[in-house]
Amino acid sequence: MSEKPKVGFYWCASCGGCEESVVDLAEDILMVLDNVDIVFWPVAMDFKKSDLEVMEDASIFATMINGAVRTSEQEEMARILRKKSKIIIAYGSCAHTGGVPSLANQFDREQILQYIYQDAPTVINEEKTRPQTTHRKNGHVVTLPQIRNVVRTLDQVIDVDYYLPGCPPTPKILKTALLALLEGNIPEKGTVLAPDIALCDECPRKESKPTEIKYTQFKRPHLTELDPDTCFLAQEVFCMGPATRGGCEALCVDGNMPCTGCFGPTSRVKDQGAKILSSICSAIDGLDERSVDRVLDTIPDPIGTFYRYALAGSLLRRKVPAKSSESE
Ligand code: SF4
Ligand code: SF4
Repeated sequence: MSEKPKVGFYWCASCGGCEESVVDLAEDILMVLDNVDIVFWPVAMDFKKSDLEVMEDASIFATMINGAVRTSEQEEMARILRKKSKIIIAYGSCAHTGGVPSLANQFDREQILQYIYQDAPTVINEEKTRPQTTHRKNGHVVTLPQIRNVVRTLDQVIDVDYYLPGCPPTPKILKTALLALLEGNIPEKGTVLAPDIALCDECPRKESKPTEIKYTQFKRPHLTELDPDTCFLAQEVFCMGPATRGGCEALCVDGNMPCTGCFGPTSRVKDQGAKILSSICSAIDGLDERSVDRVLDTIPDPIGTFYRYALAGSLLRRKVPAKSSESE
């Protein structure tokens, strides 16, 4: 009997939803298990770094790494997995474009640690204790990974072959991608394994998407009675659909919530946030600065709205605080 291809999964800076999404394959997970040997999946089974280190280089057919890269440990594991795997797939928004964890790139490490360990209203820390990367006691040394100054996408750390977008990727695109790879249907390196169309093209509300609109405000979805059949933009509710790749079959819109952009941009868009910003700003009622400011002021968290999943992978990448002297 010929050996089954070996696959691995690894979790960096993310919420765990991507690992859940593998389980969301439901009975199709049996199809996966029939066709591959899972040789590394620390979140599900007791695999250690040493198990990985003794594997031959390129002996794993494909490894799916989810999560952005925030710590020295994640960098190290990503590099080892790169060496041991023929194919590396950046799995999910955080590995692909930085995801929600990369919103932390609005601050540097010192600002984040200061808030978490000292300034947050629920923290009492009179001794100003902070976690250290090395601690020595009674002749023993304990080490912790170092938190880097910025959050990075996986391809800002190692060479990536393919991307599976989404927060998390849907079972359908995961299954399609796995079957394609197992059948030897290998796409061009760098391909995002989801349709290269805008979400609006597969949205059931696309017929009501306005071609001519003059925005006077953006209403917040939880404070608005949402019409379940009309395009959100026609209701002056902000939707990332025009700047986002399709493939999820408009899941959020189906649940009567606007798209927040988790599938990232299509191949024709360099910067997802800049694309949506230019598209809405050109349709604001009154093009003078004050009108634009008045409408944009109705969006309380612009970075979190335009770059919710893509700050690390954007052209902006990070905010450099005026006083920061720290490197990456
Ligand atoms: S803007 Fe949103 S609601 Fe409107 S068509 Fe596009 S995805 Fe659908
Ligand atoms: S509708 Fe948008 S946010 Fe929701 S799953 Fe699809 S791409 Fe992601």
